[in-house]
Amino acid sequence: MAGAVETQPANSAPAANKSAPAANRPAPAASFPIASDARLAGDDRQTRFILDLSQSIPFHAFPLADPYRVVLDIPQVSFQLRPGVGGEGRGLIKAFRYGLVMPGGSRIVFDLTGPARVANAYVLDAANGQPPRFVLELEEVDRATFLQALPSDTRVEAKSAVGDVKETAAPVVANVETAQKPEAPPDPRPVIVIDPGHGGPDNGTQSGSETEKSLVLEFALALRDRIEKAGKYRVVMTRTDDTFVPLSERVRVARNQSAALFVSVHADALPRREGDAQGATIYTLSDRASDAEAERLAEAENKADAIGGVNLTEEPTEVADILIDLAQRETRTFSNRFARILMAEMKTATRMHKHPLKSAGFKVLKAPDVPSVLIELGYVSNKDDLEHLVSEHWRSRTAGSVAHAIDSFFAKGLATAGAGN
Ligand SMILES: [Zn+2]
Repeated sequence: MAGAVETQPANSAPAANKSAPAANRPAPAASFPIASDARLAGDDRQTRFILDLSQSIPFHAFPLADPYRVVLDIPQVSFQLRPGVGGEGRGLIKAFRYGLVMPGGSRIVFDLTGPARVANAYVLDAANGQPPRFVLELEEVDRATFLQALPSDTRVEAKSAVGDVKETAAPVVANVETAQKPEAPPDPRPVIVIDPGHGGPDNGTQSGSETEKSLVLEFALALRDRIEKAGKYRVVMTRTDDTFVPLSERVRVARNQSAALFVSVHADALPRREGDAQGATIYTLSDRASDAEAERLAEAENKADAIGGVNLTEEPTEVADILIDLAQRETRTFSNRFARILMAEMKTATRMHKHPLKSAGFKVLKAPDVPSVLIELGYVSNKDDLEHLVSEHWRSRTAGSVAHAIDSFFAKGLATAGAGN
């Protein structure tokens, strides 16, 4: 436990509650503690993070290496912080992100400027007209000390956090299912899984106050509505709100639902020094990236779990490798067909990248038996693309073109590799 700090206010809940913050019994929305302000104090040697709260909360803080981070797990909190509050760092804290990681659980992830240790963490009760405050104190250390303090059990800590996410992520999916009447006959329609990227403390790419996680969620919801209205397919979303979902869980949703198609929705960004790029790109899975940009992107997207503060090791596969290999080969053929149809439809509605079809090793596209594509809708780093991404008119038109592509894919009988085979 060397690197982990786990405490709770002296006058609050019993110890048993601390590491699984109310995950099994989410409180009604009205009763979530409110975080009303956050600020940083101190310098490069010692930095303090202070969070104003409506009530005391238990917490659990632990460091993660490469990049240097501290993760703070707390019960679900209603964040009512001023926009952009986490973007400006101070001292040892480069920036911080916050959000829901599971029903009942919120997380704050601090990006550090260098190695640091959690010197202290505590909750102060309301006093002298001040609200209850959570305080995190960081202290500069050298890398060797950081790594030593990085628990032999940081991995264990990280894993148990993953365990929590998985256990509670299932009910989220279950909610989607229970929305259909359990006594109804099985729905014979093909299942389309729509997967808005990122969420919770993982913002994805960003431009000013526009975050990829919000832009792609809005697009995904518009696409869902569009498809559901036509009634031919059953739509399952991997998330419908600002929640963190691990990549493996997204793949699991596709497999558990025996999906006929999996569509992951993202928005890219280029670092300024790498010039400008624009337009939508459609990605499929491959062992070798089709070009350097595809490789960079897959690497960035595959980091989502780490950004959400979760360390994931590759999961053991449940099915014999040879079966996966056979299924995958067929699945990839169908993924590629859909990608081509999608490109043809999308270019009638929006601007495409100059090389609009690419492939790379995206973890989220790895369901062996579900044709899967990942759409990068455009670049938030490009002014014109960003104008599109925030436009309702553009969204509706482009979602319409994706829905069209799905129709053509199934109408042509090209989708039979989907579930059920
Ligand atoms: Zn993304």
